[in-house]
Amino acid sequence: MSKSERKIYFDENACTRCGVCLNRCPVLSLPIEKAREEIIRLVEGKKSEYALSACNTCFSCNLYCKADAHPYQLILERWNDQYRDIGAPPLYKFVCPTEFPNIWQLLNGLITNKERIWIKNWVYSKPNSNDTLLLIGNYTHLFPFIIGGSRILDYFTPIDLIDHWEGGAYLYQGGFLDVVQRIAEKTKADFDNIGARKIVATLDAVEYIYEVVHPREMGVKHDQEFENLNEFLLKKIELDEITLKKNLNLDVTVHDNCYSKVEGGKYWDTPRKLLKKAGCNIKEMKHIKKDSLCCGFGAGASWVNNISIPFDIIYEGKKKFEEALATGADALVTYCGGCLYLLWATKELLEYDIELFHILEIVRLSMGEKLNYPEDNINRAWDIITIITYQLLISLFQRNFYISKIEYDEKKSSLQPKKFILLKIIRRLFDFKIMRKIYSRFFRILMPILKTR
Ligand code: SF4
Ligand code: SF4
Repeated sequence: MSKSERKIYFDENACTRCGVCLNRCPVLSLPIEKAREEIIRLVEGKKSEYALSACNTCFSCNLYCKADAHPYQLILERWNDQYRDIGAPPLYKFVCPTEFPNIWQLLNGLITNKERIWIKNWVYSKPNSNDTLLLIGNYTHLFPFIIGGSRILDYFTPIDLIDHWEGGAYLYQGGFLDVVQRIAEKTKADFDNIGARKIVATLDAVEYIYEVVHPREMGVKHDQEFENLNEFLLKKIELDEITLKKNLNLDVTVHDNCYSKVEGGKYWDTPRKLLKKAGCNIKEMKHIKKDSLCCGFGAGASWVNNISIPFDIIYEGKKKFEEALATGADALVTYCGGCLYLLWATKELLEYDIELFHILEIVRLSMGEKLNYPEDNINRAWDIITIITYQLLISLFQRNFYISKIEYDEKKSSLQPKKFILLKIIRRLFDFKIMRKIYSRFFRILMPILKTR
């Protein structure tokens, strides 16, 4: 796909090169003169000194730009150029469902039988055109118990298409724009083939990517109606179709994810309304909404070398937890399943003493549903830590790569049984609390040495 077939959303003519975007950026915070120089380098395609190696892909700069030039998409274009030149680091394979092994395939050997049944039902579901589809998505798939078995699912036909790549939402944030273009075409063909009319996404990011990014930047318009699950739930609660029986009486602080900042903050209010309805008292962090810090995921987008990626990610996640702890809240709540898995890994590795919930867990607890919290979550965090450790080890012997395929080679290969003996040995060790403590300590010693920021 040539660059000219996509629409470049950064508006070079509108940009005055004022530098305000990179000056106000909560991560870079460049002095204004350096910010101006950096934006000129980015516009001219010259070697970046700051943005491409430190940006957390958080979307905030678009909200700071008074000229509406979309500097965020300029950074994405430059990452796309970098990907064309040198490819992606081998560790990235773990979030690519068509590369093997990947996180979904590796997790398949670690999940419980109950989870395996849910996932199989979602993966192999055969929806009819009149059904309202619920896109479980690649990241909710990692924590299926946050929705599996819930009465919320009665409203939908859940489907779990890992090679839909969340519509390309997380690749978009890494600047893999040419790949997202291909995903847009594939997903359109799949949805049209199903004959779907109404689609609800568990991630706000996924609703946005289908509704806005695909038609605006990828030239692919979907014919379906999209909604996000938080909006859907709030409406059902306001109509008294879903009853919140329990007042949770919990002090919480809210993590606004990167995609929540799109279109001037389209996704900020609904989760807060849901939390209040569940009886939560909100204590806001220092950086919220348009200034919110990333969960850490975005640090992977501005990778400098392969081995540093997990350390950079956890280091950025550390800032989020420090702000959350400073509020004095009982719990940190995220309304993004993508953030959830990295926040849980960060919480366990850095041993933070604050509860961590996905908003669906809060709603379900308030509905009176039973969850095995926090045991399921802690176990899954260590599954994820195991997978990242395993993949980091094998990536040391691999080279940069290009995402050549966006569809599975073999049907549903993430569900095919494989042995992965080393993976299982590492995971077995993490069954022992002492091994978790030692590993966390070791990670914290290495982090200042190996992080790049
Ligand atoms: S993108 Fe906007 S804020 Fe950034 S330099 Fe251009 S005009 Fe200024
Ligand atoms: S996306 Fe976020 S981290 Fe990156 S330059 Fe913009 S404001 Fe800064």
